[in-house]
Amino acid sequence: MSGEHAAAAGGIVFTDCEFTSSVKAAVSAGASASAGGGSAHAHGHAHAHKRWEVVISGKRIKTIDVHAHCIVPDAAKVINHPLEAPGLLWSNVGDRLAHMDKSGVDVEALSINPYWYRADRDHAEQLIKVQNEQLAGFCAGHPDRFVGFATAALQFPDLAAQQIEHAVKHLGFKGVGVAGSCAGEDLANPKFHPFWQKCEELGVLVFMHPLGTRELEPSGRLGGNGLLTNTIGNPLETTIALSHLIFEGTLDRFPGLKICAAHGAGFLASYANRSDAVLRVFPERVGTPPKLKPTQYLRNGQIIADTIMFTDEGIRHLIAEMGVENVVMGTDYPFPWNTAPVEHIMSVHGLSDADKIAILGGTAAKLLGIAE
Ligand SMILES: [Zn+2]
Repeated sequence: MSGEHAAAAGGIVFTDCEFTSSVKAAVSAGASASAGGGSAHAHGHAHAHKRWEVVISGKRIKTIDVHAHCIVPDAAKVINHPLEAPGLLWSNVGDRLAHMDKSGVDVEALSINPYWYRADRDHAEQLIKVQNEQLAGFCAGHPDRFVGFATAALQFPDLAAQQIEHAVKHLGFKGVGVAGSCAGEDLANPKFHPFWQKCEELGVLVFMHPLGTRELEPSGRLGGNGLLTNTIGNPLETTIALSHLIFEGTLDRFPGLKICAAHGAGFLASYANRSDAVLRVFPERVGTPPKLKPTQYLRNGQIIADTIMFTDEGIRHLIAEMGVENVVMGTDYPFPWNTAPVEHIMSVHGLSDADKIAILGGTAAKLLGIAE
């Protein structure tokens, strides 16, 4: 490790988890299954520290996880944001690489959940500068294993547009992360148009990760058992955000936008036909109708979904609704929502090898400018 590399690595703390052993067990079990009958062959699973290189039809393919979390402590310090939250543990890059190696993930596209959307302009400016520079520096130190989604102070859309331009033109980012709303405001609000316009102009992939439906929390409706703020609150926020972007005309205004939505794009793919139907059932209450039927935005390349879907049938349905070209692998690392991401995709019935390669990394590589 070069000195520069070490310094960059020292600037980022990675989340790790107490569930490492259960993840290992799941990966081992999945590897046995896929080695038995699939066209993928796992190499090195039997050895604790050896890397699983995913091979399909005799060809080594590059796998990319578009949904992997991290945080930059020096940026969090700017607004005294705590590094640890309940249920979240922190570790170093060695653990992360070991986890990637075992689960067959070649590249993680790192994102940082926005915690700075209520910061004032000066602090937000300083925080994003530190954050993007350190994240870029870290990724540059491991160019074959990590790429990053740039961050932006979305609460100041003009500043956010500048930050993204700088991140892309000077720091080498190919994507940007956003939450599903910004300090209680929907991203379809016209105040965010300058940001969307810049994303479209730069051709960056936007990774949208929800922070829950906080406006429902004071009511207590998401209290009680089941961690509903996350379990259903997260996909609900994504569903709301995407629905507004469709019905408020944002996706029509910026047809080049490409938004990769976390957790299988929330609930939208399971129920988007209702959004088509409302155009017929309550046309007078829809407002200006979008140019396309809502379901068509799930298929035209503007909305892309990750594979945090839990069952083979869930992924199969997602693909049926969105097209195989709009579905990309995601894990939610270090949270164990999808602990056998490669095996999960390999086991979906009816996918061709080309489909599997696209979902595992081919499509994400194109979107994020990663050499295949
Ligand atoms: Zn996540």
